[in-house]
Amino acid sequence: LFITFEGPDGSGKTTQIHRLANELSQRNLPYLLTREPGGTKISDTIRAIILNPEHAELTDETEILLYAASRSQHVSEKILPAIKEGKIVLCDRFVDASIAYQGYGLGQPIETIKQINRFATGGLTPDRTYMIDVSPETGRSRMKSRTGNPEQGVTHSATDLDRIEMRALAYHQQVREGFYAIYEENKSRICMIDGEQDHEQVFSDILKDLTHFMKQ
Ligand code: C5P
Ligand code: MG
Repeated sequence: LFITFEGPDGSGKTTQIHRLANELSQRNLPYLLTREPGGTKISDTIRAIILNPEHAELTDETEILLYAASRSQHVSEKILPAIKEGKIVLCDRFVDASIAYQGYGLGQPIETIKQINRFATGGLTPDRTYMIDVSPETGRSRMKSRTGNPEQGVTHSATDLDRIEMRALAYHQQVREGFYAIYEENKSRICMIDGEQDHEQVFSDILKDLTHFMKQ
C-alpha cells in the first residue's frame, strides 16, 4: 500500500504523517515513513541543489528534471522495496507536488511533467493521497512559527526559508489552485482535507478515511 501526503508549505502534512506513522506502529502494522528525497544519498545531494537559496539561476526545466531524478532514485532504492515487503509506505510529497509547484506554480507544461515523472517512477501511482489544504497566508504564518525539529523533517527555520518557500504569496496561491485541479482529476485517489482545522480534527479526518479505505 502506497500512501502520499500533499499540500502547500505550512499545511501541517509533516505533522500529520508522523502521527499516522505512530498510529500504525501502535497497531503493529509494518510501515515505512519517508519523504522526498527519501534520505537516499543521491536524492539528498540533488535536493540540496534544488533548495539552495544561492541557486537563483536554476532554470524551471532544471528544477523539474532534478525533482524527477531525485524521485526516481527514491522510488528504486526505498519505496518499491518496501512495497514489495508488504509495508504501508507513507510518503511526504510525490508526483502531485511537481504538477502543482512546477506545473501550476511556474506555468510549465503539465503533460510534459507527467511524462517525465512517469518515466522517473516507472508509473508508480499512490493508492491513496491525503491532500491537506490551507491558504497561503495560513501556510506562511505556520512556517514562521515552525520549530526546526529535524524529526519532523524540518531542516531550516522560518527565518531562512528555502528557495521555493521564498517565492511570493501569488506563486503559492497558484500552487494551491494546482492542487485543486489535481484533486478534480483524481477524486477517487485523493482525499481532500481542510487543513485550516486544528491538528486533532485533521488527524481524525485522515484516520477515518484510511480506516474505511483499508477495509475496501
Ligand atoms: O515538503 P517540503 O515542504 O519539505 O518541501 C521542500 C520544498 O520543496 C518546499 O519549499 C516545497 O514547496 C518544494 N517543492 C517543490 N516542488 C516539488 C516538491 C517540493 O517546489 N515537486
Ligand atoms: Mg516546506
